[in-house]
Amino acid sequence: MSRNAESTAFRSALEVIRAVEPRVADAIGAELTDQRESLKLIASENYASPATLLAMGNWFSDKYAEGTVGRRFYAGCQNVDTVEALAAEHARELFGAAHAYVQPHSGIDANLVAFWAVLADRVESPALKKAQVRQVNDLTEADWFALRRELGNQRMLGMSLDAGGHLTHGFRPNISGKMFDQRSYGTDPATGLIDYDRVAEAAREFKPLILVGGYSAYPRKVNFRILREIADSVGATFMVDMAHFAGLVAGKVFTGDFDPVPHAHIVTTTTHKSLRGPRGGMVLCQPELADQVDRGCPMVLGGPLPHVMAAKAVALAEARRPDFADYAQRIVDNAQALAEGLLSRGAKLVTGGTDNHLLLIDVSGYGLTGRQAEQALLDSGIVTNRNSVPQDPNGAWYTSGIRVGTPALTTRGLGAAEMDQTAELMHTVLTQTTAGANADGTPSKAKYTLDPALADKIARQATDLLAPHPLYPAIDLA
Ligand code: PLP
Repeated sequence: MSRNAESTAFRSALEVIRAVEPRVADAIGAELTDQRESLKLIASENYASPATLLAMGNWFSDKYAEGTVGRRFYAGCQNVDTVEALAAEHARELFGAAHAYVQPHSGIDANLVAFWAVLADRVESPALKKAQVRQVNDLTEADWFALRRELGNQRMLGMSLDAGGHLTHGFRPNISGKMFDQRSYGTDPATGLIDYDRVAEAAREFKPLILVGGYSAYPRKVNFRILREIADSVGATFMVDMAHFAGLVAGKVFTGDFDPVPHAHIVTTTTHKSLRGPRGGMVLCQPELADQVDRGCPMVLGGPLPHVMAAKAVALAEARRPDFADYAQRIVDNAQALAEGLLSRGAKLVTGGTDNHLLLIDVSGYGLTGRQAEQALLDSGIVTNRNSVPQDPNGAWYTSGIRVGTPALTTRGLGAAEMDQTAELMHTVLTQTTAGANADGTPSKAKYTLDPALADKIARQATDLLAPHPLYPAIDLA
């Protein structure tokens, strides 16, 4: 394919949009400029390929397709069947999974599908069984009452938020925290690592229905074989949310004990983070859960998004190519080079380093909160996000950490030398930023001072660092 084809495709698309609402076309163009110019270190973001992006912008968006492949509640779904079946096939092959459900609209939705599937499979409730065989309309008020009571008392054991777990793993601001009686396992205060003996102890005491593995901000490998043994020892279903590291599983960086797919009963993921696909979710599972998982729509999802399933099929096909394994390995090499660069300049990293795509800087060593550090870095053209560190004294809003990830910069082609330069830029900003004070003289957790001239200089240096690695080099919108 000629490089020109990509330029022509996006230019033409913008011309068509501009004729209707020019401000939208301008915003889309401006977003490309912003993404091109910023040093994106957000661990959960990436740059999908032009083919993936284009697969989303078309008439598949217009189609309703409730149901599953070959069994739809709407007529005329033959082409949706094609892309959904393709996406599922690529997912099964890529991850070695028995079953793949590619309809979830997001990671949260994938988790909801998984929770409901496990409940439906495991909870011995006549009312629930009735609901599952699509007799929801036959449920009496008493059935619903019994159902709510039975489901409300189920237990989930997942990683605590400040150790790197995700809100959807049973925390109150998310529906999972209302559906489940939740307990969390943390990390060892001395090492920052998961202590599997403590997880086993918590499982023995708490007897969860679901043991959840997976994280948003834990910078290390997780041994899923051990977690499965713990789940088995207490009769729990073992679920892994690999949203963050799915790309490392796909690229065979995480294999054996560190690949969740052979060990978990059910695995959920997003498709847009290290996997580099469109925004969306997916569920992989053992055969015995497949029927329940396939009931995701309409149980907890609206109609599937055929245009996004088409893009999932494209991105998963890309991830099956040999060069994706190389990409995945470079993500980790870059994260380790960045960690090394920061550590050698005196930064404090949770767990002392990384063996995945992310690192967590404890910015209290610079006398800053996560909020102050995040904003000062942003002023300097470096995009990160604040994150709690284990036992964070500043809570989930201000935090004491900065989470940094390498999937996006690795997609642009930056390597170890540039990671060291990135560490230098970050270190300069963090050491030159000072915490501010409130009007009454008390220390502020949000205010800070950073010389604007220095911030501008760093932003220019960040742009220079990116210049040899243009984003979407074939796309010229001018
Ligand atoms: N699970 C994990 C581990 C995540 O990190 C995230 C998002 O950050 C999600 C689920 C939710 O994904 P989404 O934003 O697509 O709903």
